[in-house]
Amino acid sequence: MPHGNLTKWIDDNSSKFIEISDKIWDFAETGLQEHKSATYLIEVLQNNGFKIESGMADMKTAFTGTYGTEGPVIAILGEFDALPGLSQEPVPHQKAITEGANGHGCNHNLLGAAGIAAVLAIKEEIDMGNIKGTIRYYGCPAEETYNAKGWMAVNGLFDDVDIALTWHPFDFNGTWDFSTNAMNSIMFSFHGKTAHAAGDPYNGRSALDAVELMNVGVNYLREHMIPDARVHYVIKSGGEAPNIVPAFAESHYFVRAPRRYQVGELYERVIKIANGAAMMTETEVKVDFLSATYNTRENSVIREIYNRNMAKLGTPVWDSEDYKFAEEMYKTHPKNSFDTLMYMAPSDMKEELEQHKDKVLCDFIIPNYGNKMVLTGSTDVADVSWKVPLAQFSTACTVMGAPGHSWQVTSCGRMGIGHKGMILAAKILATTAMEFFSDPELVKRAKDEFKQEKDTYKSPFPENHKPPYHRLTEDKLQEIS
Ligand SMILES: [Zn+2]
Repeated sequence: MPHGNLTKWIDDNSSKFIEISDKIWDFAETGLQEHKSATYLIEVLQNNGFKIESGMADMKTAFTGTYGTEGPVIAILGEFDALPGLSQEPVPHQKAITEGANGHGCNHNLLGAAGIAAVLAIKEEIDMGNIKGTIRYYGCPAEETYNAKGWMAVNGLFDDVDIALTWHPFDFNGTWDFSTNAMNSIMFSFHGKTAHAAGDPYNGRSALDAVELMNVGVNYLREHMIPDARVHYVIKSGGEAPNIVPAFAESHYFVRAPRRYQVGELYERVIKIANGAAMMTETEVKVDFLSATYNTRENSVIREIYNRNMAKLGTPVWDSEDYKFAEEMYKTHPKNSFDTLMYMAPSDMKEELEQHKDKVLCDFIIPNYGNKMVLTGSTDVADVSWKVPLAQFSTACTVMGAPGHSWQVTSCGRMGIGHKGMILAAKILATTAMEFFSDPELVKRAKDEFKQEKDTYKSPFPENHKPPYHRLTEDKLQEIS
């Protein structure tokens, strides 16, 4: 498969894609509020002749850009949301641009920009008559705060797609064969009655008591749930002052488990505990269902093609400036991160990996990373993977061992290291899409594997669900993954 033109085109235009990525990095907008980012990316696609749809699935910042009219539909998923509090200059030591402001601490600027580069490269191939098909960019909002892809999936936005490709910037180059936990994100708010906490507490009904009793109940539940499940909470609101019986208190729960039905079962039990706590304290409980995800299914046919193309394209070529930056930043990283990499690496690679232990920048590839494990975190890419064959990979866009959601990640996303990883990712996406366009048999193979799954996708959201815009003004939602 000659990919020469495709990758050369991406290289020749790389400064344009770096500019796109940097712009999104500068906007640094958090989930469901990515108005400037979405508008800008739409403009880029529109200027290149893509047909735009936007505001789908009740989300103002969701959009697609489609090019081509026939053949298979290949989707490339892009994200562009930032995280609160992770503002950071692109320097190797901690220095916020604006203290407390948003920052791209998960490098979704790179994630989204690589996808744009890939779809524009494919458009060139369509225009030259080298392939027939339809390429579609998905602008997926709020990965961090709200399971937007899941809601897009439930609303049928992937129904005509044949193959979906995406990636995530990390500190290493590799493809993944792990799954991720399915989850629900729910806000429990309790409403009681206020009273003077010393004067007439008997006239009050404490919402905080209800929150605490619910947590106690859930903590007793732990002994009787499957070991792989995860339930965690934070108290978002617990009252105003000790001398007032709190009439309002609220806690935010995540319920996670390896399979969707397990989350459903566990969630029902957590609801019982919430109702029990309300009954005990004579308060009222309201359940605000924020988001939900499935567990992820990685398609091995797509992964094999990623693996082949990654082997051909190699790793990012780091220069002395990158190394200087990386060596300084590496000192600020947790020292146990390589252990995780080793733990998740395929067993036949462990010996080789041992030699890379002290590297500050990744110059190796780990195919099939994950040992078929279920990662305890969650992602909304999962829901798309239940609709169409999908697989993910990562390229090195940070210094080795960069903690997730950190100033270090924000920093790397707007300098050479992130840019190089992003351009490589664009090439892997584009060359892989190209193979699916060129070979219908491959599309069929990916679909055949997809059809082997016995379970079917059912909406993980309750009836009458809407994206939680009502939460945005009062609070920043907890991150989902
Ligand atoms: Zn992310």
